Amino acid sequence: MPVFGLIDGNSFYCSCQRAFEPRLKRKPVVVLSNNDGCAIARTREAKSLGIKMGDPWHFARKRPEARPVVWYSSNYALYADMSRRMYEVLQARVPAVEPYSIDEMFLDLTSLPGDLYQRCKDIREAVWQEAKIPTCVGWGPTKTIAKLANGLAKDHARLEGLCDLTDPRIRAEWYAVTSIEDVWGIGRQTVKKLQSTGVETVADFVSLDPKLIRNLLTIVGARVQAELRGQSCLALSDVSSSRKSIASTRTFGRLLTEWSEIREAFAHYAARAAEKLRAEHLESAHLSVLIQTNPHNGDPWYAKHVGAAIEPTSDTRDLIRHATQLAEAIWIPAYRYFKAGVILTDLRPACRQSQLFALRESKVSAAAMTAMDAINIRFGSGVIRLSSTGRNRDWQPRASLLSDRYTTRLSEIVRVQSW
Ligand SMILES: [Mg+2]
Repeated sequence: MPVFGLIDGNSFYCSCQRAFEPRLKRKPVVVLSNNDGCAIARTREAKSLGIKMGDPWHFARKRPEARPVVWYSSNYALYADMSRRMYEVLQARVPAVEPYSIDEMFLDLTSLPGDLYQRCKDIREAVWQEAKIPTCVGWGPTKTIAKLANGLAKDHARLEGLCDLTDPRIRAEWYAVTSIEDVWGIGRQTVKKLQSTGVETVADFVSLDPKLIRNLLTIVGARVQAELRGQSCLALSDVSSSRKSIASTRTFGRLLTEWSEIREAFAHYAARAAEKLRAEHLESAHLSVLIQTNPHNGDPWYAKHVGAAIEPTSDTRDLIRHATQLAEAIWIPAYRYFKAGVILTDLRPACRQSQLFALRESKVSAAAMTAMDAINIRFGSGVIRLSSTGRNRDWQPRASLLSDRYTTRLSEIVRVQSW
């Protein structure tokens, strides 16, 4: 019987900040969305002060009870690197790891030797020791059960971060007291449908006739039920080949009207996407761009998304050229723009052709890109870049409370004082 695990970082973004700031231990910490908009991650202490997900910062920070809160702009360079560290700790300990989101990873725990409970406890401890991320681990015979177990581990302090749902009798006990809303793959609409037939708990759902579920919720719902009954339908997938797109999309720090600035932003997003592409040894054969206004500002709504097939490439200069050409076609001077992005699809492994047929030009291009990436990895992202991506870049999102990028920038590394 297979055993799947799900490990999930607790208040992940906040935990990444805490990893480098011991003074934040047991303090309420909140991480804000892009542009310092609203709360997107909260520690337990911040939750207990009544800070909610999505609370706008400019209101929340004025509330007297929020006085002790330490606020941070989101620092994605730090979080992505901490996620990578977590992944590496796990990869060294289990046969297969499938990242599900930045802080959640499915684990293959099948045929791990020794006591499974102890193994999971050790894994959790290793992630804490080596990556400084507190986590919860749930496991069971299917991915859906592992995900449910993880949620229980998070919600019930007495489980001490670990929940084993491999035993059907223990599962049945939890199913009877767990709401159907907590099941992975059951959306809000589905919950409504199920509640209208009297289903409230996971136990109610599992005991329904599969035929009825198939009629009510199609094959997708039937699969969730089978998984909850312990029949594994979802395998651990090979992530390296499943990457379907690379996107670089951001809200501007202020509304933009000038083409020269918008052009810079598109060039910058294309360059970022190109970097991600090369880091995964891929090329893209389709590029699309999007731009939009913000109707919540009272501006007229304008949103356009346009794409085109391109010669497969991972060269920053090609991608900037395509992105800015496409963007120019959808940009209309009359509007104030709020957000833009570049999306690369039709991804394929970086072309061997250029080595075989060795066009001089493409060799030089590859060498230039490799050199640029190497310098940026060593000295920090953006140290060397194309001039078309802008000099001042004051259109970049606001991040007034940004911490150092402790793990990806040499100049921002943690300092240890001795005297
Ligand atoms: Mg989490």
